[in-house]
Amino acid sequence: NHEEEPVLQTIKKQLSPDIYKLLIDIGTLADEQQISAFLIGGVVRDFLLERPNEDIDIVVEDDGILFADLLSKKIGGDVKTHEKFGTATWTTPSGLKLDIVTCRTEYYDSPGTLPIVRPSNLREDLRRRDFTINAMALQINRTHFGTLIDFFQGQEDIKKKKIRILHTLSFIEDPTRIIRAVRFAIRFNYKLAEQTYHLAIDACSMLKQVSSTRFLHEMDLLIKENSIIPGVQLLNDIGVWKSLFDLQVKEHQMASIKRLESYHFQDPFSYLIALLYKQKAWKHQIKRYAITTKQQQLVKQLEEMAKTVLPSNITLSELHLRFATFKEENLLLFALLIQHKKLEQYIVKRQNLNPLLTGEDLIEQGIKPGPKFSEILHQLTCLQLDQKLLTKKEAIDWLLQTKF
Ligand code: ATP
Repeated sequence: NHEEEPVLQTIKKQLSPDIYKLLIDIGTLADEQQISAFLIGGVVRDFLLERPNEDIDIVVEDDGILFADLLSKKIGGDVKTHEKFGTATWTTPSGLKLDIVTCRTEYYDSPGTLPIVRPSNLREDLRRRDFTINAMALQINRTHFGTLIDFFQGQEDIKKKKIRILHTLSFIEDPTRIIRAVRFAIRFNYKLAEQTYHLAIDACSMLKQVSSTRFLHEMDLLIKENSIIPGVQLLNDIGVWKSLFDLQVKEHQMASIKRLESYHFQDPFSYLIALLYKQKAWKHQIKRYAITTKQQQLVKQLEEMAKTVLPSNITLSELHLRFATFKEENLLLFALLIQHKKLEQYIVKRQNLNPLLTGEDLIEQGIKPGPKFSEILHQLTCLQLDQKLLTKKEAIDWLLQTKF
């Protein structure tokens, strides 16, 4: 399993010289201390893919905290330790942050309890990871610098373009890995390996037990890949939406998602609403995902907005009368959900509206500050939206002619 220095050239080519030097220094110290040190996780995968990644995670087959302390003594910088997990974050003198981790396994004492973490060897550490392509390590001891440790044939899966879990219970242990699998498949344009795909299908009902926060976090990472449509589609093929919401995603939900994408919506919660909105039970279904006040306010505002009657020939000022008080982003989401072009137009216009007159202009025209002020400014906005007033002069003439 140990191939000698196959990726050495790539490492040199891909890392900035200061990080490369840092790895050499770490390897030298590891040699002095007679402990094995490895680069691990996504960065190793990305070396092989020749994709940029300087997110350096290091594991040592020893006490990671102790090793981080030694590093800071020898090279400088600060160490922050997380005793419970046996990990340390070392901030180097030049300000780089590196996670130094003790090899560990997690095992479950009894079902449903939190995993217990204990130190282990490298193989066990790699075995608890999500996919073969993420479960490779690269030794950085000077004596073995650049040796790839690949117990689970990650390199082969890179060649085959497959996302493959490491053992059959993987998705049951952590159902968020289903979303992670989709994320990596989309990012690299890989397929889920056949058994992995079937095990994902079998395990997707387990996603119900994942907390809303974790679920939305994984969805957020998926959205950041900038391919929401294929992501939602693949999750649909696996049966995630069916299992969570009794939902088979169709063309109209995809169209809705595309509209959100075109306005650069980033929030996974909004996309979840786009998926569910036309379902009868959407308010009930979305409830458990509405955790923050902002999310709860969005659901409430959507309910209120949905009560508004919107004739097809409605003017922008009439829309303003109905929607002036709603939060812009909530309103935009509503417009995209019900596919109301005029409302969309109103929001864009309202966002870019430069008031023809300000409070100061009103005072100059002899109007005393008071409740009348906001009434005048509101009317002005309406006239401006309908393009009945175009210039400041027209606005002043209107002001003088109207008896306030
Ligand atoms: P990215 O390129 O998106 O940063 P990454 O592979 O670095 O991807 P992280 O989420 O930063 O992914 O996690 C780092 C490593 O930790 C992964 O490569 C994987 O080995 C492991 N890992 C992360 N999340 C899980 C999980 N839910 N189950 C098992 N292993 C995980």
